[in-house]
Amino acid sequence: MPPITLRGITVDFPFTPYECQKDYMSKVIECLQNKVNGVLESPTGTGKTLCLLCAALGWRDYFKDSISARKIAEKLGGAELFPDRPLSSWGTAATDGDTPMYYTDIPKIIYASRTHSQLTQVISELKNTSYRPKVCVLGSREQMCINPEVMRQESNHIKVHMCRAKVSTRSCVFYNNVEEKSSDKDIANSILDIEDLVKYGNKERVCPYYLSRSIKQQADIIFMPYNYLLDPKSRRAHNIELKGAVVIFDEAHNVERMCEESTSFDLTPYDLASSIDVVDKLLLEQARDTERGEVTADFNVESLNSELKLDITTIAKLKQILLDLEAAIDSFDVPSDKGITKPGSFIYELFQKAQLTFDTKAAILEALEQITGYLAGRPGIFMNTSGLQKLSDIIQLVFSIEPAEGSTGQHIEANTKQFKVHIHRDTSQHRKKQNTDVWSSSSSKKQAWPSRALTLTQHGHPAL
Ligand code: SF4
Repeated sequence: MPPITLRGITVDFPFTPYECQKDYMSKVIECLQNKVNGVLESPTGTGKTLCLLCAALGWRDYFKDSISARKIAEKLGGAELFPDRPLSSWGTAATDGDTPMYYTDIPKIIYASRTHSQLTQVISELKNTSYRPKVCVLGSREQMCINPEVMRQESNHIKVHMCRAKVSTRSCVFYNNVEEKSSDKDIANSILDIEDLVKYGNKERVCPYYLSRSIKQQADIIFMPYNYLLDPKSRRAHNIELKGAVVIFDEAHNVERMCEESTSFDLTPYDLASSIDVVDKLLLEQARDTERGEVTADFNVESLNSELKLDITTIAKLKQILLDLEAAIDSFDVPSDKGITKPGSFIYELFQKAQLTFDTKAAILEALEQITGYLAGRPGIFMNTSGLQKLSDIIQLVFSIEPAEGSTGQHIEANTKQFKVHIHRDTSQHRKKQNTDVWSSSSSKKQAWPSRALTLTQHGHPAL
């Protein structure tokens, strides 16, 4: 199929495009040339994904050529190599309007879809085109880990902590092969989705998770699910640089909901009760060790190689914070199933009752990180640290925007305008098994199960 030219850009489309497809691709190119955001709609079955890929990659190739041509021209003393080629087709991104600019970076394309299975379909469409960009697809350890010991763990956050510990001690053989394999030409020049990467990882005994992160640096196009892009925590964790990148959201009508979800949370009585239970057990353990004259707990170094660098007083303080938070939430009279709703800024008032503030958050997060890291993968009695992990995520979310020095409460009001705090009766699954779970098994004194759950949500989120 001969290539077509749209707005001065050569696009290699695998079929003869329909008029609507040409229009769609022209609009994509127009947005890229003018460096503007675009919202494009087209009926189902009109080949949107293929159009998006071909238009964006065609424009990128042209952009790349323009930079090479400029470099050569500069070396030749400024002579115009292609005097008859209109500069406008490079777009303002290449020329920055009337002033020609010298670009060394060719924009990466970030292609985000809602789910991994949708990404797999997009990647298979890419394989059907003539474009062969360097591709990277980002996934989670849950999907990509091939270390049998780590894969055996049920909880995702334990997998994460075990993996981190193994990476820091270079005790995962698959991780140790990443550096060598990431320069493998087969990998760099193949279009692989998650399943392909895992197959390659098993065959070559290399970690697919870290391999994909490593090839990300050289990738021309990076595929990822929305939440990697929209959730600031995830963006940081995956080191995703948005500056100068072309970002494509496929099926963008889901974006608003994903944004709301990534900044909303539910904290159930079970989360707090299980957190208190873990801290309590740790406290007892530490007290026993201190009595025996040991300063820090000792454990299987090979499986974690980390020690708990927290003194007993800090652990006791953390327990008090958890108890205070539980009491603060449970102190509300919730008259009906609807619960009570407060403005978003109320979350700070509530957390303050448990000494959770902008001033204390760093120390609390550090303590939570220490404990979850220490307990992950520790041989012996399993301790469920998912509640502590969740609390750590919530604290990071709530205190993510530091108030400027000397700023008043107005700052908080403005930042929380879109949110609501909801305190309601607990309807979680764990409530149904309340007397057989953590409360009854962890303590000889049977305690009453707190019945209030806390939700922070943006307006319009279905949780309300
Ligand atoms: S480095 Fe890779 S294979 Fe090893 S534990 Fe971590 S995710 Fe799994």
